[in-house]
Amino acid sequence: MYGFFECSKCKSRWESAKVTPKHIRDQYYGQQCKSCNIMCQPYRVEETKCSRCGMVARTCGCDKTRHTDPRKPHRSDLCEKCRSGRPCQ
Ligand SMILES: [Zn+2]
Ligand SMILES: [Zn+2]
Ligand SMILES: [Zn+2]
Repeated sequence: MYGFFECSKCKSRWESAKVTPKHIRDQYYGQQCKSCNIMCQPYRVEETKCSRCGMVARTCGCDKTRHTDPRKPHRSDLCEKCRSGRPCQ
């Protein structure tokens, strides 16, 4: 899932293509604000869109091996799921 985060303290915003639902309803693995060191929940979550066809990436069937953007590495150190022992990637 694709999530939009806003830090409740410094109001900085960021986005992540690696948002995973928890097994609790309406809860997602959080990501930590890199300046405040507090865990934040996404305020909005969408299906990740395929960068080729614009459809929902989970079901569109395109080759996904090139989807990872190397210029925007996943911040595992700020990711609650990665730090829980089950990394996103
Ligand atoms: Zn912050
Ligand atoms: Zn596609
Ligand atoms: Zn992660």
